[in-house]
Amino acid sequence: MDEAEFCRLWHLFQEVIDGNKEYLNSLDAAIGDADHGTNMARGMEKAVAACDQPEGGLRVTAKAIAMAMLSTVGGASGALWGSGLLKFAAAIPEAVACSDREFAGAVDAFVSSIRDRGKANLGDKTMVDVFLPARDRLIAGVEAGEALPAIAEVLAEATAAWALETKDLIALKGRAAYLGERSRGHVDPGAFSSSLWFLSLSRALAERSG
Ligand code: ADP
Ligand code: MG
Repeated sequence: MDEAEFCRLWHLFQEVIDGNKEYLNSLDAAIGDADHGTNMARGMEKAVAACDQPEGGLRVTAKAIAMAMLSTVGGASGALWGSGLLKFAAAIPEAVACSDREFAGAVDAFVSSIRDRGKANLGDKTMVDVFLPARDRLIAGVEAGEALPAIAEVLAEATAAWALETKDLIALKGRAAYLGERSRGHVDPGAFSSSLWFLSLSRALAERSG
């Protein structure tokens, strides 16, 4: 992945988050405090500005996006995305491009950070329900020699399904956990927005081959 594709990913994510802002707020209204769409949209607006800087390399860009999210998203998701992206930045090469393996390694560092910080397991009805299996599928695909755009296309569809599957779960982490059994029957907002990141990744890489 090169820096142009990386920035395209964040621009596409900003657009799709903005387009789903009210929907994400409505998901959060059901099991939280109705701000997830607003939080993410505010953060992404600031984050994409980091991509409009002259070429600084992948690590510098990722770090700037992390800082933008840490300072503007707020809430649980802001801390998790921001600190996760700092680990992503530390793992990605400084260069203007990286291999698929290096990209997968950086996503792995991101997911590990979210798990270390948030302590959520698979099935706790959080963004981890999307990112954990996606990380595993990404690494397996890269190891098997699949092309990154093809892996991303699979993940766009799979993560959308995994996000919807959080509907049947009881929340065990985050604000929604206070609702206990009443959290069942609603899609987790953070899981849904996370699936949009993989949709953006697939769109950014689909543009590679035209
Ligand atoms: P807040 O809950 O502080 O209002 P947001 O509404 O922006 O923050 O984000 C809520 C989302 O954050 C949830 O839908 C869930 O996916 C995610 N989340 C909350 N707590 C955790 C956690 N401990 N681990 C992983 N993800 C979490
Ligand atoms: Mg909220």
